[in-house]
Amino acid sequence: MRALNSVRSSEEALPPSLLMSVFVELHIGIDDVDSPRGGCTTHFTYVFLKRLLSEVPDAMLIDYPNLVRLNPAIPFKTRGNGGVSVRVTVPGELVKNVVDILHESLDDYISELGGGGDAGALVVEAPAHEGLRRLYWKALTDYVHRDYLMTSLEKVGDMIHYVRGGRGLVGAAAAIGWYIPSDCTYELILYRNGKRCIDRDAFMRTARALTNVLFSNWVDGRLLIMPHGPDPVLAGVRGEDPSALLTFTDPKIYCGSVSGWIIYRTNQGTNQHHIIRTDVLRPYQTGCFDGVVVSRPEIRKGGDVVIRVAWGGLTTYAAFFRETGLGRVAGSLLIGDAVRVCGTAKYWEGIGAVIHAETLTVWPRPAVTVRNPRCPRCGARMKSAGRGKGWKCPKCGYRSANLHKEIALRKREPMLAGLHVPRDEAIKHLIKPRQRYGREKVCVPSPPMTRWSDFTP
Ligand code: ATP
Repeated sequence: MRALNSVRSSEEALPPSLLMSVFVELHIGIDDVDSPRGGCTTHFTYVFLKRLLSEVPDAMLIDYPNLVRLNPAIPFKTRGNGGVSVRVTVPGELVKNVVDILHESLDDYISELGGGGDAGALVVEAPAHEGLRRLYWKALTDYVHRDYLMTSLEKVGDMIHYVRGGRGLVGAAAAIGWYIPSDCTYELILYRNGKRCIDRDAFMRTARALTNVLFSNWVDGRLLIMPHGPDPVLAGVRGEDPSALLTFTDPKIYCGSVSGWIIYRTNQGTNQHHIIRTDVLRPYQTGCFDGVVVSRPEIRKGGDVVIRVAWGGLTTYAAFFRETGLGRVAGSLLIGDAVRVCGTAKYWEGIGAVIHAETLTVWPRPAVTVRNPRCPRCGARMKSAGRGKGWKCPKCGYRSANLHKEIALRKREPMLAGLHVPRDEAIKHLIKPRQRYGREKVCVPSPPMTRWSDFTP
């Protein structure tokens, strides 16, 4: 394996030409550099970084490149709605070189693909990225309108060195804004020359020893790491720390030809889009709400389950899809159960916003049932005698205006209380899988231990 760049040691002397240089911190965002024929934003970033670090050797990464997943409900995503950001320091006089390399690399990549009209990119100088944090949260949890984006960028003002304004600018700017101390994970992405091929046994041998720091890479021995589209990705291996992921750069694992690899720091598997909402959830928004079940679960053909939940004076529908495994739990809910539902809101014809549930928490509270009173004379269940007229017994005819509804505790499935997450095979990029609970950490940006290598198996 041939290292392209090694990390500069702090003791290494700077060349005399740089002694007078003032270094500036640049945050570079990129998104939507793909076309139906292939390409991928992470692969473009790999190509761009390779060129940047060889042509501007004084550029230093101050963080792993970031792969930032955004709102999964956005309809125009190709796959996982991911933007990328790259954070470097460069001598001030070389900022223009960085911008030129980015611009040319985008043009080259896009013309080779024959698409890329939506590509967006942004280069800002620190601390302008601070102003983009709000945009990150918005793009993660809501729809970002062009006006909102423009207002956010106007605030950043002349700290902007470069803009490419396709639709991808939303993801590019939001990816820069993910510069917050928060939980994070890492993904090693390997790129291919030709067909995808992995030696499953070799992969599993390496993976078994590292189970505690990996997640969402396989289910029951079936690998989940290979995509199926025309993009240049051979595989993506997800884990908690970059050093463990480096193990998977071993060429023996891959029977196909690998053209290179890169490790990203990401917000994948963190549930960061599950913000607590206290207001109405509109289509395209993500988040969680606490409420009380007010209808019996409707179990639909195929096993999907829909419930109605009241919260803060509103009622909303939540759908639990069979493949997530949450339908079984939702189908056992009782009226009166207190729940937290997290997910993304989509528009259903004739209903409005419906939460497509990604997690379900059932609070450990016994469900109650409310029933009509029993007849004090014959014991039958009474009926309403009409609005404001009390109760009437359908069996013996007894009437009373002084009886009250009965509230009773219902027997419950003891296993229902607690947090329910989707089955491993139904986990999507941002959702925290079972294995990650208890592994959360606070990550701060840190320079990569290694950059990446030209990889020759
Ligand atoms: P790739 O990995 O190839 O980039 P992808 O699944 O990440 O594919 P994109 O092709 O990037 O999807 O398409 C997503 C588009 O949606 C981008 O143009 C991005 O700027 C835009 N976008 C992302 N989040 C939002 C949002 N919350 N509101 C509006 N637009 C958004």
